[in-house]
Amino acid sequence: MTKKTLSLGPIPDALASELRALTVNAATGSVDNGDRLEIEGSFTGETIGWVGRGTEEDVDEAFRRARIAQKRWAKVDPKKRGKILLAFHDILLKNQKMMMDIIQLETGKSRDSAYEEVIHCAITARYYGNQTHKILKDKHRAGVMPVFTKTTERHLPKGVIGQISPWNYPLTLALSDAMPALAAGNALVAKPDSSTPFSALYAFKLLFEAGMPRDIVQLVTGPGRVVGNSIAEQCDHLMFTGSTETGKKLGEIAGRRLIGYSAELGGKNPMIVTGDADVDKIMPTVLTGCFSNSGQLCVSIERIYVHKDRYDDFVPKFAQATKDLKLGAGFDWNIQMGSLIGASQISTVEKMVDDAVDKGATLVAGGKARPDLGPYFYEPTVFTDVPDEADLKRGEVFGPVVYVEKVDSHDEAVEKANDTDYGLNSAVFGPSKTATGIAEQLFSGTVNINDGYAAAFASVDNEMGGTRESGQGRRQGAYGLLKYTESQNVTDERVLPIRGPEFLKPRAYAAVMTVLLRAGKTFKILK
Ligand code: NAD
Repeated sequence: MTKKTLSLGPIPDALASELRALTVNAATGSVDNGDRLEIEGSFTGETIGWVGRGTEEDVDEAFRRARIAQKRWAKVDPKKRGKILLAFHDILLKNQKMMMDIIQLETGKSRDSAYEEVIHCAITARYYGNQTHKILKDKHRAGVMPVFTKTTERHLPKGVIGQISPWNYPLTLALSDAMPALAAGNALVAKPDSSTPFSALYAFKLLFEAGMPRDIVQLVTGPGRVVGNSIAEQCDHLMFTGSTETGKKLGEIAGRRLIGYSAELGGKNPMIVTGDADVDKIMPTVLTGCFSNSGQLCVSIERIYVHKDRYDDFVPKFAQATKDLKLGAGFDWNIQMGSLIGASQISTVEKMVDDAVDKGATLVAGGKARPDLGPYFYEPTVFTDVPDEADLKRGEVFGPVVYVEKVDSHDEAVEKANDTDYGLNSAVFGPSKTATGIAEQLFSGTVNINDGYAAAFASVDNEMGGTRESGQGRRQGAYGLLKYTESQNVTDERVLPIRGPEFLKPRAYAAVMTVLLRAGKTFKILK
């Protein structure tokens, strides 16, 4: 029996071994024979548990099992598959406390940031739970000859979907793309990030409790270069979330193998504050847009363009509000910002900040590590006057560091916002009319008006993803499920063969068809 609430110490043995038992590593025995991956708790830097260091053989076994199970699963009524997701919605909400404890232990994030994952996952479960059978329903399309040709669009599951996910949102990024893949009738082979396997494993445990057949999901823990690579080499469609650098490497494998590939990658997300914005009113939402999950969020804001009419009001208020954020370790809901995930992340942030300071940027808030709170805490940090040569100007930090820049016009703000290699998310703050006019000119996969990222992220009936180097394909919405299917065109030529009755010679057929084509277009009979 496991306690209902965890402490900042290790994950209880009973729970850790129950979660390890869900992996293929356990089934093959490699969990006992192979090396261990020690998992560090980000609040303290101490080891909180271990999982197996998976091998290519583990992945082979995962695919062998998944391919057998998928054949049965594909025949299950989509409505029934959806019902499992609806049951998962309830089980997740019921077990949210334990879920958030594990997420926080592994990532060091704040309680409300962990809760964000629970909400997003529950919303996604409800959406695909209710929509799967509607999205997958056969659709009648216009045939070449009205009445004579009946043509239907069907969607077949692709087979076994491979999923590689990151550490920053270990619940929602492990489950929210997996749910539509499974609901579409596929099996899944998934590798959670090596920093946060327990969050993903606990979430899948709840999914199994909701009725998901055990063999349909094969989980392998282990290093990206071994396990992730092997998944990419065997799956029928790859769903990857992570850095642009890894995304490109995996894209090469997907290209060589001619399989479908969805990639949700990095960003350098801009925010625009309009010349008529109410600075006091927008400030709390601006802060969350920048510092939620300590800025380790693909869609979080890293650069803010403020119209000159609001700049002098905005900067001191933003700097003060940033300094006032309450940092700390633990499960307390009042803490506003937690830790970074680990040593490599804090070193990236320190390098970016030091480089900006050395090159002449002005620090207006933060700029220091906080070892007094925990080994990986870093203050939320705001710069102004960042020179073009600073790495911070165009490079993704993926941490709590933001810069503010004054612009003379909304046009200049749009030009600067779009001047990036990325295109994941943008935000515009200001009265709706002004902000909407600006939003329409931004080239990113999501644009949030008077919100940083959450409004678009949580609106799961609408797609999201990245333009340019921020990604390939989309998640969410009907597309987020259909991408895991092969569409099939089934056409029944009724009454007459498409070449007309047998007595019609080719020349006569051509004459009749030409008349019909002309008439079809003129009278708009044909689509
Ligand atoms: P990463 O690319 O290093 O790792 C992500 C996953 O890929 C991990 O599971 C890792 O083990 C695996 N991996 C690493 N190298 C691999 C390889 N050669 N072959 C196969 N798998 C491999 O990313 P990260 O640094 O851990 O995550 C942060 C990045 O992810 C940031 O750039 C962030 O913007 C991005 N991200 C994007 C989204 C999105 O939805 N667009 C969401 C979260 C994070």
